Amino acid sequence: MTQAEVLPPRLVWQEAEVRRIVQQTPTVKSFFLAPPAWHGFVAGQHIDVRLTAPDGYQAQRSYSIGSPPEAAEVELVIERLSTGEVSPFFHEVVQVGDMIEMRGPIGGHFDWQASDGGPVLLIGGGSGVVPLVSMLRHRAAAAPDVKMGLVYSARRFEDVIFRDELLARAAAEPDFALHLALTREAAPVAGHRHGRIDRAFIAEALAGLGAPPKLCFVCGATAFVEVASMFLVEIGVPFAAIRTERYGGTPAEDPIKADVAPEE
Ligand SMILES: Cc1cc2nc3c(=O)[nH]c(=O)nc-3n(C[C@H](O)[C@H](O)[C@H](O)COP(=O)(O)OP(=O)(O)OC[C@H]3O[C@@H](n4cnc5c(N)ncnc54)[C@H](O)[C@@H]3O)c2cc1C
Repeated sequence: MTQAEVLPPRLVWQEAEVRRIVQQTPTVKSFFLAPPAWHGFVAGQHIDVRLTAPDGYQAQRSYSIGSPPEAAEVELVIERLSTGEVSPFFHEVVQVGDMIEMRGPIGGHFDWQASDGGPVLLIGGGSGVVPLVSMLRHRAAAAPDVKMGLVYSARRFEDVIFRDELLARAAAEPDFALHLALTREAAPVAGHRHGRIDRAFIAEALAGLGAPPKLCFVCGATAFVEVASMFLVEIGVPFAAIRTERYGGTPAEDPIKADVAPEE
């Protein structure tokens, strides 16, 4: 029996062409893929990619889908980790026209669709904003009246992925609010927090929703997710309303490494 005969279609590996590559920030690029067998996804889901070296060695990683379900292509948004194996390959080797082995969509917990409603608080650290932007784009297309807030922690203003889009949405969409925290910017940037997110910053974003959140989505490096979701619990958000996606890295033994403020 072949793989395709025993596995659900989303778990069958397929080759997708890289149609476009866009530099988003100094360390982040978007890769727009066109998988031949694709039956849609829910915002927040991810795909797996698999690289195979000539000697047969394989490396597999997960990447969230940044495009909304309404889009024709699947957008992956990959941050280059200097000590990494797969992300530098994407940044330095992959070209338009290349074929990338992938499977998906994957994930059934960290996702949001218009019928889930709101209000919704999204909290992202670094590239953890990617699935949250898919949700924001889907909301704009399918349910613009749902209140959403995005708390987004980035190192510097130049590192804010989808910066122009997020600022434009915040200005144009009355039911969307952006709460940007810049952790390593040399000087304050007008209108944005200078420093790490803390409990008060998240509480302010929650208050801006005008009603208790139906759902909160927290995504980013493991340490960031652990501390940010702990803040939500401390503020009183029920566990059942909190969904998390951990991208990896070290756990939150040190709040500074988590890029969130230590306890006051
Ligand atoms: C569900 C899911 C979705 C993901 N979506 C995205 C995405 O949209 N965009 C994206 O850029 N990445 C995403 N990731 C992370 C991605 O899968 C890889 O882990 C990442 O690209 C690093 O792979 P690498 O081979 O370059 O580094 P590796 O060789 O795996 O790791 C190199 C070093 O970096 C550390 N490290 C690994 N991941 C992180 C991290 N997130 N933060 C800090 N240190 C880390 C490792 O501990 C190691 O020391 C996602 C992960 C998961 C589980």
